[in-house]
Amino acid sequence: MTVEGTSSTPDEAALLVKARARELGFSAVGIARADHPLERDHARYREALEGGLLDVVDYLANNVETRRRLDTADILAGARSVVVVAARYDRREDEVDAEVEVAARGVTRRIARYARGRDYHNHLRKKLRSLARFVRGLGQDVDARPMSDTAPVLERAWAAQAGVGFVGKNGMIITPGEGSYTLLGEVVTTLALTADVPMEERCGTCTLCLDACPTDAFVRPFVLDARRCISALTIELRGEVPIALRAAVGAQLFGCDVCQDVCPYNAKRRSLPPLADRYSAHERWGNITLEELARVGLPDGPDFAALTEGSPLRRAGAEGLSRNACLALGRERRRESRAVLEEIEARHPSEVVRRAASWALAELDRPRDVASVRRQQ
Ligand code: SF4
Ligand code: SF4
Repeated sequence: MTVEGTSSTPDEAALLVKARARELGFSAVGIARADHPLERDHARYREALEGGLLDVVDYLANNVETRRRLDTADILAGARSVVVVAARYDRREDEVDAEVEVAARGVTRRIARYARGRDYHNHLRKKLRSLARFVRGLGQDVDARPMSDTAPVLERAWAAQAGVGFVGKNGMIITPGEGSYTLLGEVVTTLALTADVPMEERCGTCTLCLDACPTDAFVRPFVLDARRCISALTIELRGEVPIALRAAVGAQLFGCDVCQDVCPYNAKRRSLPPLADRYSAHERWGNITLEELARVGLPDGPDFAALTEGSPLRRAGAEGLSRNACLALGRERRRESRAVLEEIEARHPSEVVRRAASWALAELDRPRDVASVRRQQ
């Protein structure tokens, strides 16, 4: 039977949409029914919200009910299907090696993989708009809304529901054979499309991600305390990083990949096709030092707008980036950083940054333990 207003059956329409998604370069695609309520995932999200675990990420407290289903006036009235796509940003091992050489000079290695090059979201949104146009063209009066971090939806849960991957114990969507270094996007539509089989969790007895987290941010498998997560603290937090977490957070400047790096599903890099150059690590992060970054916000410091043009790092804000750089300097405890940190402590307009610099100076002054002195000899 054909779908009303089209000449295709739901099976045929689903095949056409998936073929178009592949043509557009998405590494995985699947379809779920939009009127399917996400009871289990929504309950997990509400529990985390009510337990305060998501307090660092303000926007997650909004639109609580909208996150349950997609066929509402908030998302798309009359929605029947959601097409979920994944776009890979992982690089081949040889490309990463080249990046590491650049990283040795600057701050690249302290930036999460997805954020080292240009912001993927613009590129992803263009492709999603194109996919939504294609879906609209499949029938009369078909509506389709592209989404990529632009609506309050539990997108990882939808990705699992659509069979794009499973939600791992680290909370990431993992596509077997592809891994988890992907960005997700959706096209919600009023068109009836045959849904895929949801993908169940395939972690088995593995706990590598939970054990590797530097801040013990997992309350239990699948449940993350964002207040302890380096990614949330370096990107979303406005204000001071809790003292007990500063040394661990200082390992990173923006984001954290540890719980993905250790995942066996990501151990497949050499077989990947190369990514477009636009996603290579930007040379600006190989040419700037932590000291220079810490000076962002000072009257004669680097210009934040110019420095983060087209980069995901802009999301941290000038204050956040400078604060993160001070914490990283505190963790490194290099004598050469003292003058910059003293200048920031005395002159920076942000109290949050001044206090981060004070903490870093106290770290510099802290007596080293015997083992670390021996390591440096
Ligand atoms: S991103 Fe980093 S800090 Fe956050 S849960 Fe994963 S390993 Fe832990
Ligand atoms: S590291 Fe292991 S437990 Fe964690 S997401 Fe990967 S497979 Fe699952």
